[in-house]
Amino acid sequence: MKLSDSLFKTFREVPQEAEIPSHILLLRAGMIRKTAAGIYTYMPMGWRVVRKIEQIVREEMDAKGAQEICTSILQPSELWEESGRWAAYGPEMWRIKDRNGRPFCLGPTAEEIFTDIVRSGVDSHRQLPFMLYQITDKFRDEARPRYGMMRSRNFIMKDNYSFDKDHEGMMVSYQKMFEAYTNVFNRCGLTFRPVEADNGAIGGDSSHEFTALCEFGESEIAYCESCDMAATVEKAAFRDAEPDTCDMLPMEKVLTPGTKTIEEVANFLGLEKSQTIKALLFITYDEEGNEKEYVAAFVRGDRELNMTKLVNALGIREYEIAFADENAMHEKTGCVGGFTGPVGLHDCKVVVDSELVGLRNLCAGACEEDHHLINVNYGRDYTADIVTDLKTLKEGDPCPCCGKPVKHARGVEVGQIFTLGTKYSVPMGAVFKDEAQETKPIYMGCYGIGVSRTFQAIIDMPENHDENGIIWPMSVAPYHVIITEMKPGDEAQDALSEKIYNELLSRGIEVLWDDRDERPGVKFKDADLIGIPVRITVGKRAGEGVVEYKLRREADKTDLSWEDAVREAVNIVEREKRG
Ligand code: ATP
Ligand code: MG
Repeated sequence: MKLSDSLFKTFREVPQEAEIPSHILLLRAGMIRKTAAGIYTYMPMGWRVVRKIEQIVREEMDAKGAQEICTSILQPSELWEESGRWAAYGPEMWRIKDRNGRPFCLGPTAEEIFTDIVRSGVDSHRQLPFMLYQITDKFRDEARPRYGMMRSRNFIMKDNYSFDKDHEGMMVSYQKMFEAYTNVFNRCGLTFRPVEADNGAIGGDSSHEFTALCEFGESEIAYCESCDMAATVEKAAFRDAEPDTCDMLPMEKVLTPGTKTIEEVANFLGLEKSQTIKALLFITYDEEGNEKEYVAAFVRGDRELNMTKLVNALGIREYEIAFADENAMHEKTGCVGGFTGPVGLHDCKVVVDSELVGLRNLCAGACEEDHHLINVNYGRDYTADIVTDLKTLKEGDPCPCCGKPVKHARGVEVGQIFTLGTKYSVPMGAVFKDEAQETKPIYMGCYGIGVSRTFQAIIDMPENHDENGIIWPMSVAPYHVIITEMKPGDEAQDALSEKIYNELLSRGIEVLWDDRDERPGVKFKDADLIGIPVRITVGKRAGEGVVEYKLRREADKTDLSWEDAVREAVNIVEREKRG
């Protein structure tokens, strides 16, 4: 492609709305354009990268025997009613109506459609197992679209579904996808880590997220360097403190004026924070958004409440719960802002962290202004509606597997895999007849890759950008080689550039020829910004057949005969293009 023939525009200024390197650089390089909040257009060079990522995904899915199909992004509500998710999906779903008032959604994911396809096409065990996938636009009306393609309201996702006879078969499919995902992200040039994950709204029992590691990521993972524990912070289990063996002392009410925080009360009474109980107060909402019930959650004073664990314990979604207005809650439940404890609360659901059960003689709010209770003990003084692990595993906390201090890292979730079991096949009637002619539900798995998110995450890897721009890995680069012609119109330079251009094209190399009438400085800046892996500069020594050869990733420049430069370029492209 000659740059003079293409729609090509780069920008010097950092766009106002962009905060992270990948978003800034994609906008500056003219690879994407913003259309509306969370909605983007891929420009020619950006789209070439996306198509290469899609191709890598295709190759790895096909290698595991999955078959590609393409379903409509318009999905009728009836299918979602059958699975129970029409009401449950919440405000992220874009809901629309046809001219006759029939409800549809723009697919945020496609478990229902795939289950529907399979239930009408499969009847015998002989047809199982198999996998189907698609690479299509998905739509989610995200509460906070941001970071460009990282969290957009319309994005490209590869979604894959496996269909097996039993649990064992499902685990084989899951393992195949685990390997395929590892290959995809390696080939795309990501530094990533598979981590155990929460199943969220999809349901099912095991799940891994593939997290590309970078400081700008929205996900936080906890991992252990002494064993192989790695999990999202939402999911990471917590090892409870050892139960106390001392006796229960008599509970006492004490005056603690103005001590509304754990810190204040612990200081006032001369206690450790770990000798106190922290209260967090919530209100939940039903599917129509009406207030449902008050919830009081209790953890040890030095712990952090994990919202994912809390909503899972309550069997609700994140958007169905919010912090309670303490004054309103007081009327109904007797709680007192800053002085709430589990003793004396009424008419609200009490959820207690599991380790509190074994700890003795703790200090908690007395549900009375300026008062706390000391020597509070579970079982004797209060009980709970639910007892479960509610804690967030923080950096330095003991690893739930081996006890060594855990570490945290940030990253971007680029893919997630789930076992679904019969969660969709039972309510939707996706069944088959086994060898004994007995009707059984199909075991399913589902597997997603955020293609457009991956596109951006690649750039955020520290090795894939610098202060001058993007450094594309060869496997996904929009072009392999850029010929930077210093002075178009100069006879020798024109002739040599053309010769190199044609030679590279004939060897199957993707070449961009910067033949624009621009200053050399502008051309070098643009070549760096758009991140083409190999640059061949045709300049003053064109008459002798000599060019400058440079890799975007390295600082060295070498003068080479044009034939050598072509040979070098072909070699490196051949070596690296598969990723
Ligand atoms: P997140 O937790 O980031 O909201 P998710 O867990 O809801 O994502 P999945 O349902 O697992 O997402 O979707 C599969 C993949 O699609 C994700 O791993 C992610 O890479 C991508 N993805 C999800 N939401 C978005 C979005 N709003 N913009 C871009 N990519 C997305
Ligand atoms: Mg996910």
